[in-house]
Formats: sequence, C-alpha cells, structure tokens
Amino acid sequence: ALFAPERVNARGWDLTHAPTLAAIDQGRASYLEAKWDAGPIVADTVPPPSPKTSVINPARSDDTVGHVRPADPATIAAALAAATPWEADAQTRAKALNAAADAYEANAPELFAILAREAGKAMPDIVAELREAVDFLRYYAAQASDATTARGIWTCISPWNFPLAIFTGQIAAALAAGNAVLAKPAEQTPLIATRAVEILHAAGVPLGALQLLPGGGDVGAALTSDARVNGVAFTGSTATALKIRAAMAANCAPGTPLIAETGGLNAMIVDSTALPEHAVRDIVNGAFRSAGQRCSALRCLYVQEDIAAPLLKMLQGAMNELVVGDPWHLSTDLGPVIDAPAHQIIADHIAQAESDGRIIHQIKAPSAGGHFIAPTAIRVDSITDMTREIFGPVLHVATFKADEIDAVIDTINGTGYGLTFGLHTRIDDRVQTIVERVAAGNIYVNRDQIGAIVGSQPFGGEGLSGTGPKAGGPHYLPRFTANPAPMAMG
Ligand code: GLU
Repeated sequence: ALFAPERVNARGWDLTHAPTLAAIDQGRASYLEAKWDAGPIVADTVPPPSPKTSVINPARSDDTVGHVRPADPATIAAALAAATPWEADAQTRAKALNAAADAYEANAPELFAILAREAGKAMPDIVAELREAVDFLRYYAAQASDATTARGIWTCISPWNFPLAIFTGQIAAALAAGNAVLAKPAEQTPLIATRAVEILHAAGVPLGALQLLPGGGDVGAALTSDARVNGVAFTGSTATALKIRAAMAANCAPGTPLIAETGGLNAMIVDSTALPEHAVRDIVNGAFRSAGQRCSALRCLYVQEDIAAPLLKMLQGAMNELVVGDPWHLSTDLGPVIDAPAHQIIADHIAQAESDGRIIHQIKAPSAGGHFIAPTAIRVDSITDMTREIFGPVLHVATFKADEIDAVIDTINGTGYGLTFGLHTRIDDRVQTIVERVAAGNIYVNRDQIGAIVGSQPFGGEGLSGTGPKAGGPHYLPRFTANPAPMAMG
C-alpha cells in the first residue's frame, strides 16, 4: 500500500496581515526596474550567442523586464547529448529538492517581482503560485525512493499561466525519480524559469540532470521527437498535446509516456437552493481570478431560472468591485492577459457577443498600456455555444429549468472536456447524484473551482482535458519511473 507521505504545505504569505504585506512590498521594491537574462542552460557547452529577444511586461508596454536567447538547434543537440540521469541516491535527491524549496522561499521578493512583471500576475495569485511551487518540490522530494529506477530523459514543457508552479512541479517529479530533465518553459515566461533553474542548480541538482531550453514551438517539437527522449510531461493546449502525441508516436520508442494536462470548458451549476452570496463569491473567483487564465477557471455558469435574476444582479455588483490594472499594485485583483495575440482572441470573442446583444455585464479596465481585458459576463443558451476555450476573464451564463438538470449534465459531459466542475446546492442527494454523473477530474461543491492544493487536491482532467495522473497526487511521480510501485490509493 502506498500512503501519502508525511508533509505539510508551505506556510505562504498572509496578505491580510499588514506587516507581512508591507514586508512583501518592501522586499520586491528593489526589483521594480531590474532586468533579467534568460537563455539555454546546458551542460558541457557554452551555447553560441543567438539573437536576444526582449521580454515585455504585459501590463506596461514600456517596461522591458529582460531578454531571452532562445535555444538554437545546435544547443538542443548539445543538451540531448549531455543529458545524464541523476544517479545520486534518493536521500541526496530529496535533500537538493528540499533545499531548492527553501531557496524559493528565501528568494520570494525577487520571484514575486518577476511573476508580476513578466507574467502579469496579481499578488494574491503570485503568493498562491510560489506556495504551490514550494509544495511541489517538497511533496515529490518526499516520494524519492531507491526502490524505483529512472526512465531516463524527460522533456518537460510548461505553460505561461503557472510559469513557476507548473514548471517546477513537472521538473521536481522527474528529478525526484532520478531522471534527466530537458525543460522547455513557455515562450512568454523564460525569465522566471531561468531563475528557478539557477536556484535548483545552486541547491545541488546537477547540470546534466536539469538543462533549460527556452524558445517556442520549434524547440518543443525538437524535444518531443527524438528517440533519446523517454517521456514527456506537457501542460498547455489540447491541440499542442495532440501534436506532441503524434510526434512521439513517430519518433520515440513505443510506450514512451506522455503526461498531458490540457484545456477545459469548465462549468458550474447553481441551483435554486444555493446560498446566493456564497455562490457569487465563488463564481467571481472562478471566472475572473488570474484574469481567467487558469485551465481550471469557470467558463460557463448554469444557474437555475428561478434565482437567475437576483443572482445575476448580485454578480454584477460583485464584478463592479473588481480592480483591473497593473499587478504591481497591491490593490489590483486582475492583471492583463499574457500577450497581444491572447488579447485579440478574447477581445474578438467579446465583440462578437456585443454585436449579438448578449453582454450581461462588463466592468471597466484600462484601455492602454497593457493587454487588459474588461471582465465580462455573456449570455449563452448552452455551453455548446462556446466553440473553444476562451482563456480570459469572460464568464458565459446559461439558465436551466428545475427539470432540466440531467440534460444540462449530459451537455456538459458532451463537450468531451473534463477538467473542473463546480456545484452550488444545499440538497445533499443532489450533490451525490451530480458528482457521480459529471465526468471531470476536479469537482468542487459549494466552493470555487480553482486553486487545487498539492497533496490534498491532486489536479488533472479527463477526456480532452488530459491524460492523468493528477499533479500533486500520489500517482504522479511513479509515472516518471521505469518500475512504478503498485498503488493502493485513488
Ligand atoms: N492547478 C490550478 C488550479 O487548480 C490550475 C492549473 C492550470 O491552470 O493549469 O487552479
């Protein structure tokens, strides 16, 4: 039997505690205008100087946060040749990962600053993200075991929406199991990834066991279509995951594992027995926190017709309180979306809804300086009106009649996605039946549907939303080994 290892989650930083907040503000102040450099970090070779690209703050187009040199083909080849599984015993591996966790916490002010300026994340989200990254390091470190064997070389491809936490989680699991990692961070967020890798190396992870290859889709493609790669961990879009699967099938050894965590069309059902003020709080969090840029975010709310009018009125009031702006300011609730192409897709979607006369409510956002999107609620007939995941602060709202709830669940399941699902009701039997029927990886009742906690709420989807195993759960790390021990849990 495998039991969850003994551990506690990181303490984090309590932003409601005035002295803590002041300390954070002061700590990161010296990084307001700092610049960081990112580029390949590979063993044995000095990468040739390839042209540098500027990394621009998504909230302030006049703020250059740093520069990145993407990995070129020669550097990728050098990294593949130099990749060396981590031969050290489990205790040594765990010690280095735990030391890295401590160093993440010790370097919090700098990491806070990079996450705000490079990724446009608001402070409450940054605090949660750093905490999650630390949790991943300690959680997987605790599962390092001499009884298992590394698979070899893992390519880890991570998204810009959790550029520290997901980046770290994939790497930490692969390293705890003794593998060599080739890490390809999202093109938009190379600076935080570079700092993370520097910290991991300083904490004792060998250079050959962890190499960094920043860049775009070409770098990812090279790292997922090489016969020397023994596994791929990917978090990003469903479309990219399908491409990776095809590339691996054509180039890697049969049975090479792909762990993919992808998108979702996440719904929440609010029935007429729900406590409206409680539901509204969770709707706002789920749809608008992180500017809707979480794959767990609420995309389509189904509210029972009988309470729709008062609930939506209350929702509009709550939306009016949201502050959209530069995430450097502690009062900001939502920062910008990540870049101009993302902004365009979301703005077009809202414009279409506007011309269709389907806007329920929209609040103000800065119109210049950054990629801001005004949080918007849009009326739809059904989740099937959404032909794609809109990765921004846009909530779609449908209503249903009391006797339609089964049909609503069929429709939600029918999207083929299955990441998160939320339910607000005060009928116990209904909780039971709905939870059984909904095909989603993470189901939340009478709370918001974002912010899964490492160790307590393993995170991952079904169907088009991912392959499993869930991150931050007991089955994740064994997948990175050649001989996963039999599991009793889950
Ligand atoms: N784990 C995050 C959450 O529970 C979402 C991760 C993602 O967006 O990829 O909100």
